Amino acid sequence: MDYYGKKMSRLIEQLSALPGIGGKSAQRLAFHIIHMPKEQVEQLTDAIKDARENICYCKECYTLTDQELCPICANPQRDHRTIMVVESTRDLAAYEKTGKYDGVYHVLHGAISPMLGIGPADIRLKELMQRLQGDVNEVIIATNSSLEGETTAMYISKLIKPTGIKVSRIASGVPVGGDLEYIDEMTLLRALEGRVEL
Ligand code: ZN
Repeated sequence: MDYYGKKMSRLIEQLSALPGIGGKSAQRLAFHIIHMPKEQVEQLTDAIKDARENICYCKECYTLTDQELCPICANPQRDHRTIMVVESTRDLAAYEKTGKYDGVYHVLHGAISPMLGIGPADIRLKELMQRLQGDVNEVIIATNSSLEGETTAMYISKLIKPTGIKVSRIASGVPVGGDLEYIDEMTLLRALEGRVEL
């Protein structure tokens, strides 16, 4: 790719390392960037650096945030006795978009997958169990309906059962292997409302 010169090739290489960006898209983006006004490029690089440096995990629910407590955990209007367990911050965002859930969340950052060698200790499960020592009424398991999501749901329900805390699983209807973030709000709401106690 040296016909572009070293600096251009380097930019294309960096961009094509991003997920979902193939060689052609990387070239298109690189040409777009070098034609952008300089201050716009600065805003973009600043936003990337700032996000990378200042985004951390909420100390309560482990979602990504830039404060010690995320806005949901810090909100006294939310029902802190109902915890919805999701695989990722993107899944949390999908449920928040429905505007109908007023409990709090717990973000696992992954799911158990024996095939990929991801065990219970590799996701934020220990942290969930610690939270359950407080005043908790119900845990809603909203992991994906993929094999990994189901395995994780089963594992969590077995862990929680002996504590006497109510455990429920969002209803099926969420397509198998479907990423929660791509599912429309009505389907998510139906899945939440139709949750079944495990
Ligand atoms: Zn939080």
